[in-house]
Amino acid sequence: MSTNACAHIDAIASVKGPKQRECEECVKIGGRWEHLRTCQECGATHCCDDSPNRHATQHARAARHPVIASAEVGERWLYCYPDDAFAEY
Ligand SMILES: [Zn+2]
Ligand SMILES: [Zn+2]
Ligand SMILES: [Zn+2]
Repeated sequence: MSTNACAHIDAIASVKGPKQRECEECVKIGGRWEHLRTCQECGATHCCDDSPNRHATQHARAARHPVIASAEVGERWLYCYPDDAFAEY
């Protein structure tokens, strides 16, 4: 997609949606979440930074997967961690 946001976001041809509408790490530990984000590298869905465990950010750092998409209904945006770049699509 051509957004001029950053090279990682421009390299995404089709946005991955959530396989399930739940944080896969919170489910394991009985945690709760506010909003969900889907990793565009591996398709894993995790909770956002407003959630107590911030699994999306933890995953991006640990796995070095740069770009997430919002997994919320009606939200169409991407965010790149290393570039702090945001793009709507
Ligand atoms: Zn980037
Ligand atoms: Zn979580
Ligand atoms: Zn990932």
